[in-house]
Amino acid sequence: MKEQADWDAAIEMLKKKVSYLEVSVKLKSEELIWALGEREYRKAHPPVQINNISLPTGSPLYFYCHACGHLAEEKPEDYTTAVKTHCALCQELEGIENGIYHRG
Ligand SMILES: [Zn+2]
Repeated sequence: MKEQADWDAAIEMLKKKVSYLEVSVKLKSEELIWALGEREYRKAHPPVQINNISLPTGSPLYFYCHACGHLAEEKPEDYTTAVKTHCALCQELEGIENGIYHRG
């Protein structure tokens, strides 16, 4: 359990990050604050992941986000398309962060 001061510090840090992000991508700060906060929350509260190997033949397969550990995608056993490595939220944030990174 985090202390209130820790959360306040985390929020301040997010706000700084958001103002930096805003300049580059012009997204609404509330959305980014929410998304960044949500990712931190997800990282702190990872789900119990299903081990695909333990499932019976014919079961769908579960793939988890590399960033937050939550479900990224569920696919039929005979899937042929590429597996998503990130959930929609982290995909979005990574895109923003990488965009900034590449712009230097
Ligand atoms: Zn994620």
